[in-house]
Amino acid sequence: MLRVLVTGAAGFLGSHMVDALLAEGNAVVGVDNFLTGDQRNIAHLTRDVRFEFLQHDITQPFDPGRVDWIFNMASPASPMDYSAYGVETLMVGSVGVRNVLEIAKKYSARLLHTSTSECYGDPLVHPQPESYWGNVNPIGPRSVYDESKRFAEALIMAYHRYQKIDTRIVRIFNTYGPRLQANDGRVISNFLRQALGGDDLTIYGDGSQTRSFCYVSDQIEGQLRLMHSSEHLPVNVGNPEEFTILECAQAILAITGACSQLVFEPLPLDDPRQRRPDITRARELLDWEPKIRLPEGIRLTIPWFKQELERLSASGDLQDTSGMAA
Ligand code: NAD
Ligand code: UDP
Repeated sequence: MLRVLVTGAAGFLGSHMVDALLAEGNAVVGVDNFLTGDQRNIAHLTRDVRFEFLQHDITQPFDPGRVDWIFNMASPASPMDYSAYGVETLMVGSVGVRNVLEIAKKYSARLLHTSTSECYGDPLVHPQPESYWGNVNPIGPRSVYDESKRFAEALIMAYHRYQKIDTRIVRIFNTYGPRLQANDGRVISNFLRQALGGDDLTIYGDGSQTRSFCYVSDQIEGQLRLMHSSEHLPVNVGNPEEFTILECAQAILAITGACSQLVFEPLPLDDPRQRRPDITRARELLDWEPKIRLPEGIRLTIPWFKQELERLSASGDLQDTSGMAA
């Protein structure tokens, strides 16, 4: 049994990682400051003696005690969240990552860091292999997130090269599933909320921009395989099936049976034109590829959204999140 630290444990991906690690028989210390996460994501674990929780901001030094593995997942992730918390996003990707690397150094722990396809910016190479250096605006609205993640990768590689820390870097492409915040403004969240609520679906721009959507169980499986591997260089984990945003909207309308109209709104500044992972390295190094295609993943996600929409409308917290990242 390993003792594993998961930062961002109350978030969407962090809470699924905690569940997977406990299911593998490990003990987990979860850390989160609830900036964008939710206590409800880990509420089912309160009686599990193998799970400890520490409410803490990782930009402040901390010591969780001896740990064998670390999954560093703390960071605002949706464009709406990192636009609202720009400075916090830069600090968690710099000072926060350094604090976690110091824990890895102290306990000789293996550390996996969740990086992002945003490192490729608005990519001029398509699909994106890990060898592509990206096309990032360093001062635009997305820069607080993109540059925080790029700095974090550089810091992790420096600790690996100069201090011999055992590190892993996963570059995550758009991932969705249960526990996604219904109010986070991301495309799957907005479209499901709008379709299930009988509202119009908001397409930013003309909807010809593309994304490639990975279901959460595939994402977690890819990250666990990377942690078990000996690969130190970044590995893309995402689903290479690519959709225009219009196709994504039509898929959600077909699956939900909603009669919503499509309405067109301005494209946010620097919104990437295209995104599709080249997963050759994940296939070869990890023997991993995603199993769940978009329609099935959407079906698996709908019950969560229905439950969240009921809860949010009962509490009066259901807000219109369209256009909020623009
Ligand atoms: P999320 O917002 O649901 O989870 C992030 C968690 O980190 C939240 O619980 C938040 O409260 C916590 N957090 C933020 N700052 C913190 C701090 N200073 N100290 C302690 N906790 C802090 O987002 P997510 O989608 O689960 O993303 C998890 C990780 O995966 C992030 O690092 C994100 O950048 C990365 N990622 C996610 C996606 C995706 O599609 N979901 C894509 C690329 C990368
Ligand atoms: N988008 C959209 N309508 C919405 C929300 C998002 O057309 O209601 C678009 C957005 O402009 C982007 C894509 O969907 O082109 C994915 O947006 P998201 O915020 O989910 O993540 P990103 O990949 O841009 O970080």
